[in-house]
Amino acid sequence: MTATEDLIAAADAHSAPTYSPLPVVVASAEGAWMTDVEGRRYLDLLAGYSALNFGHTNRRLVEAARRQLERVTLTSRAFHHDRYAAFCAELAELCGMEMVLPVNTGVEAVESAVKTARKWGYRVKGVPAGMAKIVVAGGNFHGRTTTVISFSTDPEARADFGPYTPGFEIVPYGDLTAMRSALSENTVAVLLEPVQGESGVIVPPAGYLPGVRELTRERNVLFIADEVQSGLGRTGRTFACEHEGVEPDAYVLGKALGGGIVPVSAVVSSAEVLGVFRPGEHGSTFGGNPLACAVALEVIAMLRSGEFQARAAALGERMHRRLAGLRGTGGVTAVRGRGLWAGVDVDPRLGTGREVSERLMDRGVLVKDTHGSTVRLAPPLVIGEQDLDWGLDQLAAVLEDAG
Ligand SMILES: *Cc1c(COP(=O)(O)O)cnc(C)c1O
Repeated sequence: MTATEDLIAAADAHSAPTYSPLPVVVASAEGAWMTDVEGRRYLDLLAGYSALNFGHTNRRLVEAARRQLERVTLTSRAFHHDRYAAFCAELAELCGMEMVLPVNTGVEAVESAVKTARKWGYRVKGVPAGMAKIVVAGGNFHGRTTTVISFSTDPEARADFGPYTPGFEIVPYGDLTAMRSALSENTVAVLLEPVQGESGVIVPPAGYLPGVRELTRERNVLFIADEVQSGLGRTGRTFACEHEGVEPDAYVLGKALGGGIVPVSAVVSSAEVLGVFRPGEHGSTFGGNPLACAVALEVIAMLRSGEFQARAAALGERMHRRLAGLRGTGGVTAVRGRGLWAGVDVDPRLGTGREVSERLMDRGVLVKDTHGSTVRLAPPLVIGEQDLDWGLDQLAAVLEDAG
């Protein structure tokens, strides 16, 4: 057996089978490139589902982490530490908000946003005890905890995990009329992805997000934007909401906030909303730890320059121009996306998304399929123009070979 086969067999023997990874075993990575245990190099067009927006082993981020590793890494929130105030202030400022609730993973931030909205509903809006409702969209992906899968519409994510958490109503994504009818006296929040990532990079119709903003403002309902995947540069702006001039009441952030090094996530909102908590009502041992703050502070500083957003916009235009050329005769039936982010529907006669991903792997390009025949492209924002072109050449070749 090869080293790759050995390691995959060992992983299969001892790892709960919650994933079906492509048969590549990565040993190191830099920028947009990964190297496997046999020394083969691959261009990464997934970027850890946008957790690696700044590329692998980004020098600036690794240095920030290394400096912090040698000083102090964890205090717990029982004590203050000297990176915490700056982290909260600078993240709030980046978001145009006032307060930060730091946690670790994306789903933990979503859970924290759900708890925040309910608490706000009871303490500020005056919703009767136990009646708070949160409206979400069909096709959503907000993570994997019991409460969060309770309002998923993906049967695979839900099956045999019940009983489910009540208090959520699901409306079709992009449908303002359905949203209007779903809002009631007891609605405390609307929770949406401004672009649905896992669903296949679905961009809602123009006017939808501003419409939701207007409705929620009229009805005294919080608009919570889950920008865990769409935020922090991916779409060519700091936040995907900006494309439609929308300012939500709260952002849920994660993935790229940890610079591809440590899990860092947060709910960012106003003092009215996050100020509802009292000590002891919510918490996390690792939330806002010194290492996480040091890395996130560097991420925030990098985003403040605007350079990564501009790069995502320019490279995104280049990528979408090329993908548009593959429509029809090139084997692609539809392309969606914003910035350096695309959901590419492949003609099912040419293979499933998984088959296309495997053929791309053989050509040295790593991507991940989403549902059915959709391939998602989300290269690190630091990818070189020529590398991006080369990666898209491989996609064109795979589709041509299959046609
Ligand atoms: C990935 C993702 C999450 C969950 O993040 P985890 O860190 O995997 O828990 C939540 N919301 C969105 C939009 C995501 O893309």
